[in-house]
Amino acid sequence: MIRPIVKYGDPVLTRPAASVTEVTDETRRLIDDMIETMYAAPGIGLAAPQIGVALRVCVIDITGGRRGGEVITLVNPEFVERTGMQLEEEGCLSLPGHNATVARPERAVVRGLDRNGLEITIDGTGLLARALQHELDHLDGTLFVNRLRGLTRDLILRKVRKQQRAGTW
Ligand SMILES: [Zn+2]
Repeated sequence: MIRPIVKYGDPVLTRPAASVTEVTDETRRLIDDMIETMYAAPGIGLAAPQIGVALRVCVIDITGGRRGGEVITLVNPEFVERTGMQLEEEGCLSLPGHNATVARPERAVVRGLDRNGLEITIDGTGLLARALQHELDHLDGTLFVNRLRGLTRDLILRKVRKQQRAGTW
């Protein structure tokens, strides 16, 4: 089921999400909804708080669903290692229409549970490393705008507030 995506301004996006105590059928239904919602958006990653669920679950497919079977599901993910630096443009389904260049480590190794509750480790560079860090940020209540320098961040947030006032957000 496609769920509505929560946008910037909703407090669920700024609070750290809770760990999943056990991966159950209910968790898997949440994961399936998240994958469907991500592909429909379309996006390359989605964290549970973005559909209003404050749990540490995220899904990533950097192909955007163009190739089958590439979706990564992470429950309770944690960084094992982060190295290097990359500067690329980044966006977020919760901040539609507002992209900016964000500095991130070039490589990220993340450990978590998959949809069956089994431990997995994802070792990503480039776009995958960026997506992993963007989604894990969501689970800690951080959005990419929080990682921007003051002026760039203020410019985006000023535009968002204008949209909010106009009722077009
Ligand atoms: Zn996002």
